[in-house]
Amino acid sequence: MQLARAAVLNADGTFSIEQFAVPRSLDGAVIEVEACGLCGTDLDVASGSLPIRTPLIPGHEPVGRILSIAENYAQTTGLKVGDRVVVPAELHCGECAGCRADESCLASPGTHGFLPTTLSPGLWGGFAEAMVLSPQTRPLRMGTSAPLQRASLFNLLGAGWSWAVEAPHLQSGQSVVVLGPGQRGLACVLAATSIGANVIAVTGLGSRDQQKLAVALALGAENVFDAETSDIESEILRVAPDGVDVIIDTTPHSTDAVTHAMNLVAPGGTIVIAGLKGAPVPFFSTDTLALRRITLRGVRSVTRSGFRNALTMIESGDERLDLLHTHHFDIEHVQDAIDTLRDDPSAIAVSLGRAL
Ligand SMILES: [Zn+2]
Repeated sequence: MQLARAAVLNADGTFSIEQFAVPRSLDGAVIEVEACGLCGTDLDVASGSLPIRTPLIPGHEPVGRILSIAENYAQTTGLKVGDRVVVPAELHCGECAGCRADESCLASPGTHGFLPTTLSPGLWGGFAEAMVLSPQTRPLRMGTSAPLQRASLFNLLGAGWSWAVEAPHLQSGQSVVVLGPGQRGLACVLAATSIGANVIAVTGLGSRDQQKLAVALALGAENVFDAETSDIESEILRVAPDGVDVIIDTTPHSTDAVTHAMNLVAPGGTIVIAGLKGAPVPFFSTDTLALRRITLRGVRSVTRSGFRNALTMIESGDERLDLLHTHHFDIEHVQDAIDTLRDDPSAIAVSLGRAL
């Protein structure tokens, strides 16, 4: 491949399809992008509500095949031309404690999908036919047997594992409530049920989340509750009178969700906060944490072990994954992909890329 087309986000918020030269000599690698997942961050990037440098090729959840790779980089990563890889977006400094332990970098020097095209060679994002991996990128190899719509789920599945299983040290048989049925909330349901935990409830907004709540039930949730029309605290306490072992809050902007979690968690239980609120939680009491020995965990993005477990789940052939992937577009229709993820109530996981 000598030229690659890419969806470039311009300063005025519009996308244009542009061609870029695919570099031949490099110190990292080039992948042919097969698919790139979208998430809420892409909506924020496209709407201009995040500080970004344009022009920019977004896309930070890519899966693809290695087209070319520098010798040193091949040695350090163990990868070769033709391998299918998934690309965790954050670059690694290589020196911090996280990098040395092969975990997430604690001082990431940059992120794929957020580097401007003015930084040579420009192809830094996944909304493109090809993408350049910096030597500071740490991709993971994935088997080639999984269908692309499942492979493209690696990022949200990794988040589900990191947030629902790792962060609260979830055990088989424990009770779990997931607040918010978005793509990551549903991935939490999948991760929790996969280790034998009991997802006793998933909550959502009935006016727009009906289809997602139906998917939550299909993934193994025992109950779903509409936070708009019912009192979710009394509904959940009806099925868990002693409280809930682990509550994962994936809702954005809802401080009420944190209050509900504090009222519902069992003594000694854990609340995981994944959704950003943009505001403090009113009347939040650390006394409640202390007196009831509650663990409160904040989580952000995906751990390396979360990615590895996502790859295992994808390669296992679990057909429930197909419930999560709902829409796929080619890069010319990048705006349609963004509009669909934002506005279509049936959209869960949305991807861009070559034909499935
Ligand atoms: Zn680091």
